[in-house]
Amino acid sequence: MGKITGFMEFERIEEGYKPVQERVKNYKEFVIGLDDQAAKTQSARCMDCGTPFCNSGCPVNNIIPDFNNLVYDGDWLNAITVLHSTNNFPEFTGRICPAPCEAACTLNVNDDAVGIKSIEHAIIDRAWHEGWVTPQVAKHKTGKKVAIVGSGPAGLAAAQQLARVGHSVTVFEKNDRVGGLLRYGIPDFKMEKIHIDRRVEQMEAEGVAFRCGVMVGTLPADSKVTNWAKETITPEQLQKEFDAVLLAGGAEQSRDLPVPGRELDGIHFAMEFLPLQNKVNAGDKVKGQLRADGKHVIVIGGGDTGSDCVGTSNRHGAASVTQFELMPQPPEEEDRPLTWPYWPIKLRTSSSHEEGCDREFAISTKEFLTEGKSGKVTGLKTVRIEFKDGKLQEVPGTEQTLKADLVLLAMGFTAPVGSVLDAFGIIKDTRGNAKASTDFIGGYATNVPRVFAAGDVRRGQSLVVWAIREGRQAARAVDEFLMGFSDLPR
Ligand SMILES: Cc1cc2nc3c(=O)[nH]c(=O)nc-3n(C[C@H](O)[C@H](O)[C@H](O)COP(=O)(O)OP(=O)(O)OC[C@H]3O[C@@H](n4cnc5c(N)ncnc54)[C@H](O)[C@@H]3O)c2cc1C
Ligand code: SF4
Repeated sequence: MGKITGFMEFERIEEGYKPVQERVKNYKEFVIGLDDQAAKTQSARCMDCGTPFCNSGCPVNNIIPDFNNLVYDGDWLNAITVLHSTNNFPEFTGRICPAPCEAACTLNVNDDAVGIKSIEHAIIDRAWHEGWVTPQVAKHKTGKKVAIVGSGPAGLAAAQQLARVGHSVTVFEKNDRVGGLLRYGIPDFKMEKIHIDRRVEQMEAEGVAFRCGVMVGTLPADSKVTNWAKETITPEQLQKEFDAVLLAGGAEQSRDLPVPGRELDGIHFAMEFLPLQNKVNAGDKVKGQLRADGKHVIVIGGGDTGSDCVGTSNRHGAASVTQFELMPQPPEEEDRPLTWPYWPIKLRTSSSHEEGCDREFAISTKEFLTEGKSGKVTGLKTVRIEFKDGKLQEVPGTEQTLKADLVLLAMGFTAPVGSVLDAFGIIKDTRGNAKASTDFIGGYATNVPRVFAAGDVRRGQSLVVWAIREGRQAARAVDEFLMGFSDLPR
């Protein structure tokens, strides 16, 4: 424990943001991380709890009290060693994780949680700056070949773990760059893509081969899923060439809103909007980019993806941005004794909301409207809803018409692409995800011999930190299957 009385002496220090007027002019990250002294003060607040709830609240089980102490002592090199022992990519989670560890922190019972994410952010940025993040090349090769389908955080974590124990790993990615939703989903202003690029460099030096623009299996002809593949490989080819296959293709099927008028021009899935801006930021020429300039934008869906649409629309220069959430507005403060150490439902205002957005809660869209024969969306018919008799019901007399020239559907994702799982012959669970358990023995294995599944393709749309956990655990399962034992951590 750094300072016994630290939690009584110091207030939580928040990371700063660049001013709204400045940051909305570009797509650069705007979080101002903690300097050394602030990180020391933040870590001094940690009580080094006998039972550290932060550690079990963190999906990768980061050893939080230990790295807090090391930061307090100024031992940044050992701090990154501890952090890397449970998390391959702290620069991703240190930027975009919602930090369930902080919700679980004991201080959060009646005070402000330790700013664990800001400490993680400071440790990994320091480590890159100092040149401490270097390739860890396996001393011995096993001669076993593993194919990984999908280069999101699950695929990347698994690839790195498997390469480090000597397997020959090839990652197949249908899009033109590595990263999954980190690359083509999460906007640059939340996480710049250099963080992926330098990890790819590290992993290539560790022996991982990346094959971008290669689709494994096929997508349905009318699929709206992002796909910049120039080549196709069949599951049979993959199974023949490799000793094991790990499916880490995410859960990309967007949830639709099949109400009258859905076919009008100007109504798009969030994932038809966000990836293109990331491509433009990467310097690509994109023909007919879907843009929000001067438009009245309505984002349907109150989660992270919706919030990213708000931030991107404001950067495009939208005339107005409104975000709909079906559920009623939650309380600003949670009832901590009731919810701790779990993730509480409370009003969350993102940095994108702060940049300008009207938020409407308890609202449902009944119809998309057009004028004349233009075929373009010009508005929406909505109704208020409430919980009555245990279910959501319309409130009579609350119909309203709102102006809109761009509607972005950000209501989550229903499942992975079914055709790819079918082509492998994978049994799905009731939600359409690849069926595989997370058991210590036999976990992550699908019904098809030598084929494993991890990340959103197995658990459904989730979080980057869960994808990293699953990638790491699946790597151990694959290693154990190939070698009969594994030294990889779970
Ligand atoms: C807009 C948006 C914002 C988000 N923001 C956050 C956030 O702030 N914090 C957070 O923790 N989580 C966030 N998430 C969720 C998070 O990004 C995902 O849970 C996570 O990326 C899942 O990782 P994954 O590796 O399982 O799959 P993905 O990241 O989805 O990667 C799967 C990859 O596999 C490729 N692929 C799929 N099928 C094939 C195939 N047949 N052949 C070849 N390649 C294939 C895909 O092209 C994709 O690149 C966000 C999600 C979205 C959509
Ligand atoms: S729960 Fe909070 S105070 Fe306790 S060890 Fe974890 S970070 Fe420190």
